[in-house]
Amino acid sequence: MPVKVSQHPLVAHKLAILRDRTTEPKRFRELVRELTWLLGYEAMADLATRERTVETPLEPTTGAEVEPRIGLVPVLRAGLGMVDAMLELIPTAEVWHIGLYRDERTLKPVEYYNKLPDAATVQLCLILDPMLATGGSAAATVDILKTWGAARIKQLSLIGAPEGVATLEGAHPDVDIHLAALDTHLNERGYIVPGLGDAGDRQFGTFAGPASEPGHGPSDETAEVVRRLQRDLRE
Ligand code: URA
Repeated sequence: MPVKVSQHPLVAHKLAILRDRTTEPKRFRELVRELTWLLGYEAMADLATRERTVETPLEPTTGAEVEPRIGLVPVLRAGLGMVDAMLELIPTAEVWHIGLYRDERTLKPVEYYNKLPDAATVQLCLILDPMLATGGSAAATVDILKTWGAARIKQLSLIGAPEGVATLEGAHPDVDIHLAALDTHLNERGYIVPGLGDAGDRQFGTFAGPASEPGHGPSDETAEVVRRLQRDLRE
């Protein structure tokens, strides 16, 4: 199952409010949480379970428990807003942080935080990042998790760009990608269009003025990276 884009009406409804430029950070954070809950529910529909016997007040019966140990891997910083919802769904999940920043000029991921222990402690890793833009951070995170020993990996993003999906699928065809929406393209600054702007800034209220607005003043290098991704996608 390569890319699954949610068709749920509640997801579509909430996503429209999330995209709205007038949605304030408090509501934005709530919506990220609610959308993650819905997306996470769909993304985990294929989890393996094993039988377990439970005693109801009336008699023993056979129930189920989720088999794989699950790790949540929020990509800092925007992925942090997706963690609580996933922990509500899977309270026993481990949370492992990987810090990658996107070099503003080259759009390449640069690792700055990684405290994974030597051997994998979970079987299934869920990478949490609201925006699957160029796919560079996602592919780099999967590289790290595979080296760590994660047997199965899923990417959960609220919005994806075709360029990012192609990059991740090309590098790691075995990774399931779950999206609330697949948008049309990246702009010359690497923002998803129509998108929602900067998911980190909108969650944490760190909008820094017009110079940080999507579409404002890309460097030549950034624009060239986006052009290359778009060329690759067409070929
Ligand atoms: N990261 C964001 O926060 N927004 C985008 O549109 C692309 C990457």
